[in-house]
Amino acid sequence: MEKSLVIIKPDGVSKKVVGKIITYFENQDLNIEKLKMMKISRELACKHYNEHRDKDFFKQLLEYITSGNVAVMVISGYNAIKKIRDIMGPTDPKKAKAGTIRGDYGTDITVNVVHGSDSKESAAREIKLFFLNNS
Ligand code: AMP
Repeated sequence: MEKSLVIIKPDGVSKKVVGKIITYFENQDLNIEKLKMMKISRELACKHYNEHRDKDFFKQLLEYITSGNVAVMVISGYNAIKKIRDIMGPTDPKKAKAGTIRGDYGTDITVNVVHGSDSKESAAREIKLFFLNNS
């Protein structure tokens, strides 16, 4: 069993497809362990995306992820990290196939509907960041 931190980004919430996106995961035998709505602070966004702090797209990424409400989840299941990344599709929605979340709802490489942890180590770090004190 693995766990992953999944974020439905502001475009997913404003397009009112939160329920539909959750269904993509549930249909692949994954479990929604935790779920909350929140607005990400600039401080939390900086910590979450720390690995990208030197990239030219960092400022744009921060502006976007803090621009509106998001749905944050812990999702568990067998091989969950890879399974979730396959369900999401590639980072750039233009490269994503229909039937993946980004292929179906993505706009561009910034406005790309969802985030999912890329490794067990990232998942542990991100779950701690977003579900402090396990709450
Ligand atoms: P990742 O840590 O790979 O999930 O990347 C975090 C987010 O940064 C992605 O979901 C994109 O929204 C954004 N991102 C990644 N690469 C680029 C890029 N080349 N240009 C603009 N945004 C990017």
